[in-house]
Amino acid sequence: MATLYYEKDADPGLIGTRTVAVIGYGSQGHAHALNLSESGVDVRVGLREGSSSRAKAEEAGLRVLTVAEASAEADVIMILLPDTEQAAVYRSEIAPHLKAGDVLLFAHGFNIRFDLIDPPDDVDVAMVAPKGPGHLVRRTYTEGGGVPSLVAVAADPSGTAHALALSYAHAIGATRAGVLDTTFAEETETDLFGEQVVLCGGLTALVQAGYETLVGAGYQPESAYFECLHELKLIVDLMYEQGISGMRFSISDTAEYGDLTRGPRVINQAVREEMGRILGEIQDGTFAAEWVEENAKGRPRYKALRQAGLDHPIEAVGAELRAMMPFVTAGKQKIQDISGG
Ligand code: NAD
Ligand code: MG
Repeated sequence: MATLYYEKDADPGLIGTRTVAVIGYGSQGHAHALNLSESGVDVRVGLREGSSSRAKAEEAGLRVLTVAEASAEADVIMILLPDTEQAAVYRSEIAPHLKAGDVLLFAHGFNIRFDLIDPPDDVDVAMVAPKGPGHLVRRTYTEGGGVPSLVAVAADPSGTAHALALSYAHAIGATRAGVLDTTFAEETETDLFGEQVVLCGGLTALVQAGYETLVGAGYQPESAYFECLHELKLIVDLMYEQGISGMRFSISDTAEYGDLTRGPRVINQAVREEMGRILGEIQDGTFAAEWVEENAKGRPRYKALRQAGLDHPIEAVGAELRAMMPFVTAGKQKIQDISGG
């Protein structure tokens, strides 16, 4: 079994004696900065000149500097910028201020795993990756809890990188929930695979294909929406709470027999082989190179595909039906990214 760390396993004094910079004040950045600050850590936030987040961070009582100033002051730097922006900002505003003994932290391994950022040899490189969106990292902390997180070490010239990462995890509340050891390669590769094949890519393609099959066969779009999208949450909730077997215990025998005999025909050998190819493209860097190139070109394919998704008929039907079910969205905060990192 994997090793899990809890409150007693972390030394709060390690991060407590450092000077910390949180770079970025988005989903993760605001949560890390506020949690660290309330845990008594000496933290400043690094933002671009003219950042719209500056006022928010200052109102929250945080000290805001430019990325370069924050990096110069700090000896522990947590980079919480979008993964596609990190390499350029690192090169121009963070790297020039790194000193021997500094610690560079990430909440996702992408830039280190694919060599987009190459830190100097005398700097520790580690990861503290909450397995949940930033607003949960913040909310659970204020409620006395935390979000389960991963820690990993990519470079450890000081010999203390792992203990420091655990101490940082403690200060953002993660050891209250549980912290798991991983590596930059495992975190990055499994994260990309999960979002591409199961959680986001596989799931949305499955829902759309099921919807198109029913509507194409002449059934009402509203029926197709309820069957292929709306009911998904009820099934996923059961799986989340009780596993696949627990979910199967709750559905009818007819549903379960259909599940057991038809599921493997949908996710058949050809699909499994495609999953293997997609994993291969993650592992050999093909996906990362494609995404870096797509960003360099201004994201033309990404924008076209996103628009096609917006134009899919299931969106119009869904918007109408959800408007009749205010309980579905009432009071729910928009979740930016359940999977990133
Ligand atoms: P985000 O997009 O919510 O926030 C990014 C922040 O960076 C914003 O404050 C933005 O204004 C700022 N920024 C953007 N470009 C900049 C630039 N060029 N210079 C300076 N500042 C700039 O990002 P996020 O979702 O918090 O992700 C941050 C990191 O956390 C990523 O590595 C991501 O993979 C990881 N992560 C995210 C989640 C999640 O649920 N959102 C979960 C775990 C890990
Ligand atoms: Mg993920």
